[in-house]
Amino acid sequence: MSEDASVDWEKLIDETNLATCERCNGVNETVTLRECRTAYADDKKNHSPRLCDECALEYNDYWDSLWADYYNGQR
Ligand SMILES: [Zn+2]
Repeated sequence: MSEDASVDWEKLIDETNLATCERCNGVNETVTLRECRTAYADDKKNHSPRLCDECALEYNDYWDSLWADYYNGQR
């Protein structure tokens, strides 16, 4: 590996299997498949997103509030 300061992301992704975040298109070592938070009857719609840590927090916040609304509506 060279110590070149410029980063060739495509090469790095190939070499390290780093993934691209679906939401922000960022590439870093925190990007990974996250737990699917949807519960569609049609399982094909339940999609485990590939997200970085930051986007995963937003994703979970989003679904936390959606599920909270859903359960509130049931009472
Ligand atoms: Zn992201």
